[in-house]
Amino acid sequence: MQRLIGNSIRLRVKKQLITLCRQLHTNQSNSSIAHDFNVASTSTIDSNFFTNHFRKISPFSWLKTSSLSKEKNDGLFQIKELSTPEGFHILAERVVNKCEKLLDECFNPSRRKIVEILDEISDEICRVADLAEFIRNVDVDNELKQAAEQAYGILHHLVEKMNTNTKLYDHAKQAYESGEGDETDQRVLKLYLNDFERSGIRFTENKRLNYLQLHEDILQLENYFRHGAHREYQIPTRQLSEKVGKRFNEKAITINSAHSNDDDENLREFIFRQYFRYEPEQEHYLDELLHKRYELAKLCGYTSYSHRALDNTLLNKPEYVTDYLEQIMTAIRPFADRDVQLMQILKNRLDPQSTNKPIAPWDIARLEARFKSDVLNISTQEYTPYFSLGACMDGLNLIFNSLFNVTLNKQPTAPGEIWHPSVVKLSVDHVTEGTVGYIYCDLFERKDKVPHDCHFTIQCSRRLADGSCQLPIVVLHVNIPPSTNPNVPTLLTLGLVENLFHEFGHAMHSALARTRYQHASGTRCQTDIAEIPSQWMEYFVYEPRVVKLFARHYETGQTIPDELLRRLHIAQNCFQAHRTQVQVACAMFDHSFHGPYPLSESYEKLYSSLLTKHTSLPYISSTYPYLKFYHLVDYGARFSSYIIARSIASKIWHDQFAKDPLSKTTGEQFRQNFLQWGGEREPNELIGNMFSLTKKLTINDMTKAITDEIKDNAQKRDSLFKKNK
Ligand SMILES: [Zn+2]
Repeated sequence: MQRLIGNSIRLRVKKQLITLCRQLHTNQSNSSIAHDFNVASTSTIDSNFFTNHFRKISPFSWLKTSSLSKEKNDGLFQIKELSTPEGFHILAERVVNKCEKLLDECFNPSRRKIVEILDEISDEICRVADLAEFIRNVDVDNELKQAAEQAYGILHHLVEKMNTNTKLYDHAKQAYESGEGDETDQRVLKLYLNDFERSGIRFTENKRLNYLQLHEDILQLENYFRHGAHREYQIPTRQLSEKVGKRFNEKAITINSAHSNDDDENLREFIFRQYFRYEPEQEHYLDELLHKRYELAKLCGYTSYSHRALDNTLLNKPEYVTDYLEQIMTAIRPFADRDVQLMQILKNRLDPQSTNKPIAPWDIARLEARFKSDVLNISTQEYTPYFSLGACMDGLNLIFNSLFNVTLNKQPTAPGEIWHPSVVKLSVDHVTEGTVGYIYCDLFERKDKVPHDCHFTIQCSRRLADGSCQLPIVVLHVNIPPSTNPNVPTLLTLGLVENLFHEFGHAMHSALARTRYQHASGTRCQTDIAEIPSQWMEYFVYEPRVVKLFARHYETGQTIPDELLRRLHIAQNCFQAHRTQVQVACAMFDHSFHGPYPLSESYEKLYSSLLTKHTSLPYISSTYPYLKFYHLVDYGARFSSYIIARSIASKIWHDQFAKDPLSKTTGEQFRQNFLQWGGEREPNELIGNMFSLTKKLTINDMTKAITDEIKDNAQKRDSLFKKNK
C-alpha cells in the first residue's frame, strides 16, 4: 500500500549531468542486412500507419484548441464518474467503503489468502490514487486538479490507517509465517509486510510518532533541496568582465545551467562558477536531509540510510555498490583519459592563442558541440527529416511486432476520455492473446504540462478471480516540440527519439506484465529492475539494421543513409567514457553521503577528494555541484541503480539481441523470463533467469559489459578522428 506515494516512474536522468552510455554492436558492413530480418513486412501491421496519421494532422493546430466539449462526456479514461470533478470524491468514498469490507474479510476465519485481499485493497486504492497523482501532473483545469488533490488526501489517510493497523499486520504476519500460499504468494505478502514495517508498525506509540515526524520533515526538506537545486540566477551584466559584458544589451543575464558552448572561455567559466556557487542555505537543507534520513534508518534498525535504501535491490549491500562503482571507475579510466586527451587536441585547434590551456569542465559542452559539427559534419537539418514522429512510432510498432507479436493500434476515444486533443490512445494487441494493455500517449510539449518525461500507471495488471487478467493502462508522457509548420511533420532530434524509445520501454514493461498481483506488476519493482527495459530500448535507436527499416525522409521517402547513421552513432557516444565517469561520480557521492551521519569530512572535502581520486578532470575549487544534484532527492542512496540497470541492459543487448535484434525467439524469451514478472520475482532470480545462470551475475560481468561498450565506441570514434586529421 505504501506504493500509493510516488508511483510514477522516475524522471529521466538529466542529460548535462549524466549522459547515458550507448552502444552499437554490429559489423561495419550494414548495407545488405535489412532483408535478412523477419520483420513487419511479413506480418499484419500497417508499417506506415503512424507516418500517415501524424502527417494528416498538424500538431500545431492542437495547441490552439480550446478546452474539450463539456456537453457529452463519458469521463476521463472512460471512468464515468470522472465526467465531472465531483466524481473524484465519489470514487474516493467508494474506495473507503470497499476497503472497510475487505478489511473485515481479512479477519473472517473462512477468508481467502490474505495476500489476495491485501492486493485487492491496494488495487482499489491505487486505481484512484494513481489517477489523482497523474492529474496533479498534467494540464487540466484547476477544479479537476483540486478534486484530485482532495481525493488523494482521503486515500492517503486511508493508507495510513491500513499501514498502522496492528491487527491486520499480525494476521498477515501469521499467514506469512505459517507459509500460506505458494512461492509467489509468499514473496508478495513479504513485500506487503515490508511496507507495514516501513511505516513503523512494530514501534511503540512514542517511537511511531517519532517515525511519522521524521517522515514529514524529510518530505519537506526534500522539497526545499529540490527547489534550491533548480534555482536560476539573474546576474547583472555589470558583474561580467568588460569584454564579455559588452556582448549583452540586457541589464542582466539568466543562468539556468552550468554549461555553455559559447566560444568565450571567460564567459563559460563565469557561468559554471556562478551556477555551482556556494549556497549556505542549500547546504543546510542537504545536511538536515541526510541527518533525518540517517535517523529514520537507525530508528528502523538499519546501520545507515544506504542500508535501508538498498534492501531488496540487486546489489543489496552498500559494500557491493561501493565495489561495483570503484571497479567501473578503474576500468573506464584509460578511456576517459583518452577522451580528455582528444578534447585537448580539439581545444588547441579551436583556440590556437591559448594552446595547452588544460581542459576544464566548462569546456565539455562546447567541445562536444564542435566535435559533432566540425569533425562529424552533423547538423539537425540534415538528419531530423528521417525521424518524423510518425516514422519513429512506426519503428516502435515494427520492433514490438517483431519481438513480441503485438501491434500498437490507434483507438478512437470517447468524449471526455482524454485530457488533451493531441493524446493518442493505443491498444497493445497480441496476435493470439488479444488486447493485453492500453497506452495513452501524451507526446507534445505544452506550456502547463510537467516538462519531464515520465511514465504513469493508471491501472496495473493482476489476475482476477475468474482467471482473466485486469488489463494494464498507462500514460506515456514525453515533451516533443511540435512542428510549427503545417507542411512539415514533427521531426525529432536523436535525444528525443531516445526519450520516446526509453519511455516506450517502460510502457511495454507495464503492458506485457502478467503478474498475479498488481502490487508487483510491470514497473512496480525496484528501480534497478524497472530501468532495464527502458534502457534496453535505447539500443534500438542506434542499431542500423533496425533504424533503416523506419527512418525514412518525410518528403522523399528515402531510407537514412548508412554513412549518416554511422556518424550519428559516433556523435552520440563521442565522449562516452567521460560522461560515464561523471555519472558514476554522482552515484559515488550519493552513496557516500548516505552513510553514517555525520560524515567523517565536510561535504566539499568528500566531494573534491572523490573527484580527484576517480575522474580525469580536476575538481574546480570553490564550486559545489553536489548542491545542485537534485537526484539526491528522488534516488536517495540509489542513484547507482541507474548505472546498474545500464550495465544489465547492455549485457542483455550484447549477449542476446545484438546478433539478431528483431528475433522473435529472443523477444519471446525476454518477455517470458523478464518482462512479465515485474517485481514478483527477486531481482537476483530475475536476472539469473535472464542469463540462465545458476549463480548471480557478478560485478565483474556488469563492469565488463559497460567497459566493452565504451572501448568499442572509442575505437570507432578514434579511427574516424584519425581520418579527419
Ligand atoms: Zn526511465
